[in-house]
Amino acid sequence: MGLRKKFNWSRFFTTCGYTVIVVGVIFLVVALYHQIQTNERAVEENSVNISGAARYSDNAAFSDASRQRTDRVLFIASYDPTSSYYQDQITGLLSVSDANNIEFDVINMDAAKHDDPEDYAILDQTVQRRLASTHYRGVITAGDPALQYVMNHQNDFFKGLPVVFFGVIDQTLGKTAAKNPNITGYLESSHIAATLDMAKKLLPGTKRVVAIHDESALGTTEAEIFNSLSKKKQYAGLDFETLDLEHYTNASLRKAVSAYKKGTIILLMSAHVDQDGNYYTAAEITRTVSNAAAVPVFRNSKGGYSNGAVAGQVSSYRSTAAAAVRLMSRTLNGTTQLAKVGVTKSLSNSVYVANYPTMKKFNLDLDDLPSHTVLVGAPESYYAGSYKTVIYSILVILAGFVLIFVGARLDIRIRKHNEKHLKKLTNRLSFANAHDPLTAVYTRQAASKRLDELDLQDQPYAIVTTDLDNFKDINEVYGHTVGDVLLKNIAEELSDLAAAHGGAAARYSGDAFMLFFPDAELQEDDPMLHQIQNLFSRRRSVGMDTLQLRACITAANSEPGHTYKDVLLWCETAMQAGKNKGKNACIFYSQRMKQEAAAAEQTRLSVLDAIEHNGFCMVYQPQVETATGRLTGFEALARMKSGALSPGIFIPIAEENGWIQQIGRITTELTIRQICVWRNKHLTPPPVSINFSAGQLGDTDFLMFLKRCLVMYAVPVDAIRLEVTESLFIKKEQEAENFFKAAKEIGVRFMMDDFGTGYSSLSMLQRLPVSEVKIDKSLLDSHSAKKDDPFLKDVITLIHDDGKVALCEGVETKAQRDLLNALNCDLIQGFYFGKPGTPEQAEAAIRKGVYDVD
Ligand code: C2E
Ligand code: CA
Ligand code: CA
Repeated sequence: MGLRKKFNWSRFFTTCGYTVIVVGVIFLVVALYHQIQTNERAVEENSVNISGAARYSDNAAFSDASRQRTDRVLFIASYDPTSSYYQDQITGLLSVSDANNIEFDVINMDAAKHDDPEDYAILDQTVQRRLASTHYRGVITAGDPALQYVMNHQNDFFKGLPVVFFGVIDQTLGKTAAKNPNITGYLESSHIAATLDMAKKLLPGTKRVVAIHDESALGTTEAEIFNSLSKKKQYAGLDFETLDLEHYTNASLRKAVSAYKKGTIILLMSAHVDQDGNYYTAAEITRTVSNAAAVPVFRNSKGGYSNGAVAGQVSSYRSTAAAAVRLMSRTLNGTTQLAKVGVTKSLSNSVYVANYPTMKKFNLDLDDLPSHTVLVGAPESYYAGSYKTVIYSILVILAGFVLIFVGARLDIRIRKHNEKHLKKLTNRLSFANAHDPLTAVYTRQAASKRLDELDLQDQPYAIVTTDLDNFKDINEVYGHTVGDVLLKNIAEELSDLAAAHGGAAARYSGDAFMLFFPDAELQEDDPMLHQIQNLFSRRRSVGMDTLQLRACITAANSEPGHTYKDVLLWCETAMQAGKNKGKNACIFYSQRMKQEAAAAEQTRLSVLDAIEHNGFCMVYQPQVETATGRLTGFEALARMKSGALSPGIFIPIAEENGWIQQIGRITTELTIRQICVWRNKHLTPPPVSINFSAGQLGDTDFLMFLKRCLVMYAVPVDAIRLEVTESLFIKKEQEAENFFKAAKEIGVRFMMDDFGTGYSSLSMLQRLPVSEVKIDKSLLDSHSAKKDDPFLKDVITLIHDDGKVALCEGVETKAQRDLLNALNCDLIQGFYFGKPGTPEQAEAAIRKGVYDVD
């Protein structure tokens, strides 16, 4: 339980938290964006900047004069510097003029106010003077009248000059102008349709729309656009009417307007001049009309929204103005040709504007306004609505954080919960790891760990090991289940006993236990050891039977400078001694044992030292023909130069420690070199046997080495023989077979050593690839004493029957020699003829050629 996979509430809460925060942030961003836009547009609508611009002004350059390599461009604006159109336009132009290296001179046509021929004459003169005094590289126009003006003079004033227009509502005018390859630009929407749609939404009951306009170029265009809309399906059921301001006086206008009843709406388009020639700014005409009217007044252009107009869609010319500057710049630096740039739709932002107080006055629903409508004149409380969104968003975000917090708390709780379970599990696991599953006492690893700790803390301790003598038999006789029960019982008893002495028990291996006692020092005849012995020797009943276990017990104390591994090793040494001594022993690792162990270590080291430092030499024992005493060979035997150890000791040590391969090579080379020395003295030594231990089979390159030695010392292969024992054939059959095969290819001959000892059966002899068989000394000793003992005779006959030569070693007496001679033993070796001798002694024998001790 506990760690089972279940629904992750923590993750759930955290995910929800993050989601909520993301939503909150989105809301907040939108709210803030909306807030900023609203504020910005509201400001934009309400402030009018007329800096530096003037009607027909002469020096109205809008750029930093100190700049070099700028292109001068003439900007002709249709309207007066106070109009909101112009404000937009000049802001847009200046926003990118520096970046495009363009300076502007501005001409405000003020077309709405002045469009009579006299005005145009003055405009013409101004333009001409400008063009004469300044080198303009291009012209940018804004609004329909300005474009119309450039069109009128495209072949005189502006001939060859590139012209980019924007803010042109009359689509035909724009398209016609663009037929001139030097002219192109951006068309603007009239916003009439969009404003009508807005009005219809706000006032669904509307039956009639009266559009007020004047006879200016824009006013006329707008009237045409308005009339064309009347044919559209979407406005079916709506009466379209136009009112030409130029046919009304101020008074008649107010009268006419005030007569409109509910169901009618007014669309105040471009209308600035009345019948009397009075000029109205956008603000003035809006104020006049909306004050007089009892019905809502809509506007499709900027200006008037602070003065009573209800709503409408208008343009912000900024982005289009900037686009016009960029297009002009590209044209001037040659990257774009105007002729290839078609007339484009405006890039302007269409903005919905509404007047908050007027909306309220006509009881219009703010919700019916298109989203993002800029509200003019809204009270602070209204903006608070927007702030509300901000506040809500922040609350949502906070809620998200709360969720994440809850998730995190939960996570901590879940983690703690899991940790607890994990801890429990870990405890269980570590108990399982530390305790033997069968006997529940410590495992060897756990005990080692504990002893290691004691070593680290320099704390003394004693270790007792126990090894059951006959447990294998019990398992076999009574079965493993009984064996297991016995082990369990013993473990329990040992554990109790150890605990009683402040120690603990561990299962060391199968039937071996270990007890360790921190802060204890056991004595040679410690009563506790007797207790353990008694514990084992107690009679135990198994089913109907009673049986008595026997165990070998050892004990050793820790010593400073030694680790528990040493102490265990001492116990093992003691155990070995105990087993040798006979079963059921209790051996305390004594000083003597320690000395022996130290001596053994010393011996080991001296053997290793001899191997590493050329510490061996060879002696040679003659082999002679039994009958004649003729020298037929030598056996090469290894000696330590120091004489410290006999081969009976250092050879087994080398075998145990895996050094026999090195010694094998050393003796082989020393022997072959000696043969070489003799041969160099023109002597012909008889074959010399080299002892080859079973352990040398692992030296897979030995034959290569042998061959190299033979070649190096120019010694023929038949100058040597290898003496092998039967253990070689018994232990590693396949390896031995391969070895013999390879050796045969080189031509090496073999002698079977120590025949008659060990496991050999006589029948095995036939299969062995040896040419000589050496009968072991023990056979001679035990069968040469009694007269008429047929054993030796039979062995020799068997060897002969196999076509092999028989050699008997360990011949010490004349009687033995005579016996062997009588038994037809071919060759003999032994002290009787000669002990293993130095090379010089051997050389003398070679020179003499005959051994006759008689
Ligand atoms: P081994 O191969 O059976 O060598 C014969 C041993 O019998 C030699 O003892 C030799 O000195 C001894 N011996 C010979 N004739 C008599 C005799 O008449 N009476 C008595 N009592 N002993 C006799 P050694 O030299 O002490 O060698 C003991 C064993 O050490 C050898 O038994 C052999 O197994 C091993 N050994 C000695 N040298 C080498 C070697 O170079 N390589 C290898 N692998 N083993 C060696
Ligand atoms: Ca030998
Ligand atoms: Ca031998």
